[in-house]
Amino acid sequence: MTSEYAAGLVKEAVDRREEMLNGLSDDIWNYAEGGFQEFRSVERLCQALEAEGFSITRGLAGIPTAFQGVWGNGHPVVGLLGEFDALPGMSQEGACAKKQAVTPGGYGHGCGHNLLGVGALAAAVAIKDYLQNSQRPGTVIYFGTPAEEGGGGKTFLARDGVFAGVDFVYTWHPGSINQMRANHMAATLSKTYEFHGVAAHAGAAPHLGRSALDSCELMNVGCNYLREHVPSDIRFHYAYLDAGGRAPNIVQDHAAVKYLARGPYIRQVMEVFERIDAIAEGAALMCGTKVSSQTGAGYSEFTQNVTLARVLDRALHEIGGPVWDEEDYRLAKAMTDSLTESEKEAQRAMILERYGAGALEDKLAHPLDTVVGDYTPEKCTFVSGATDVGDVSFVVPTAKLNVATNALGTQLHSWQMVAQAGSSIGRKGMLAAGKVMALAAIYVMEDPALLEEAKTEFQNKNGGVYHCPLPADAVPPKEI
Ligand SMILES: [Zn+2]
Repeated sequence: MTSEYAAGLVKEAVDRREEMLNGLSDDIWNYAEGGFQEFRSVERLCQALEAEGFSITRGLAGIPTAFQGVWGNGHPVVGLLGEFDALPGMSQEGACAKKQAVTPGGYGHGCGHNLLGVGALAAAVAIKDYLQNSQRPGTVIYFGTPAEEGGGGKTFLARDGVFAGVDFVYTWHPGSINQMRANHMAATLSKTYEFHGVAAHAGAAPHLGRSALDSCELMNVGCNYLREHVPSDIRFHYAYLDAGGRAPNIVQDHAAVKYLARGPYIRQVMEVFERIDAIAEGAALMCGTKVSSQTGAGYSEFTQNVTLARVLDRALHEIGGPVWDEEDYRLAKAMTDSLTESEKEAQRAMILERYGAGALEDKLAHPLDTVVGDYTPEKCTFVSGATDVGDVSFVVPTAKLNVATNALGTQLHSWQMVAQAGSSIGRKGMLAAGKVMALAAIYVMEDPALLEEAKTEFQNKNGGVYHCPLPADAVPPKEI
């Protein structure tokens, strides 16, 4: 298949379903469901895939909102990752340039995962059209992956072998620019420590009590001393989940603290947790209490499979970014007018770097990305954000695309991001992302040598070994 023909095919496949895809994205945006609770969103996605002839399996890895939709037969097998979870406290009116909740305190799509999930579905159905049209062997699998925000749903799926047999994976993330990023994204792991002591009257018989709260405090002191003796790019933070209750005149017999550590490599983060575990044991020993711990969510580091990423880069240049109209520019300008002064400074710096000084005034007045940036894998930079796509990248060669779905300067996890994820700007970026991923997947499926190269790169990077940060018996929570 020539590249012109393939590009035409994916454009037609997505454009033909535009109304269905936009409706699906808006519905998921409206449902705005939290991690592991995305039941209505999953229902809609499964219905849409079933209507396209995909066969659905729900409850992957024992997670009710994890599912897959499969179409086709044999190899190569391409996987698309769809996310659909929303963030707490981020409820916001769609396409509205003023901070205004739909439901005060409710959930909102502050990371644009309604677009992410449906953009991946757009790619899946376009690849189906290609397989049907070309009569070539091959399979496309849409993976519905819940609770990316704080739950690390994909890590459970990777641990339980859900991606076995998949040759390569494409995914994307909403943002403000059209670009294949050369990032090394951070690894993180969280763990909750619960201390169990003995209650006693704090005035009359404190010698009979064993304080769980003292244990937490000593653990935190120990960990604060630990900071000096870990690599400088390792960070860890803690929050009290249970400070033992409201009564100071009772020796607290229960207390719990949650730790989150992050760093460039999951291996380093897990090593740090071995030491945090020892400090927790030490604190319990000092106080005569007992400690138990439970791992929460784990995210291994993510870096692109460069071979697969170069193909996405080619497809992104061929398809191009979203095409904006006056209404989009008007909303984008209103959105950026609402930024704080420091956010505006960051926006100017970004525009200067991407477009040069000559274009500054025009881009400030029309703050939507209109170019496609070049992929520069030789300039890989560390970013402190984490994604559970990292764990998928340890079990399958994986690459991730970024397409503009919001105004230049919009911050992730902001009310402005929610508003634009529910607007025409977001929907246009979503459809473009679907086309790009589908075209790139076709290029890989048609070129066995390229796929082999991607697999060799994967083997060389990881040695084919995945050390899942989650213990074998860790189970996902019912909600985040
Ligand atoms: Zn996200």
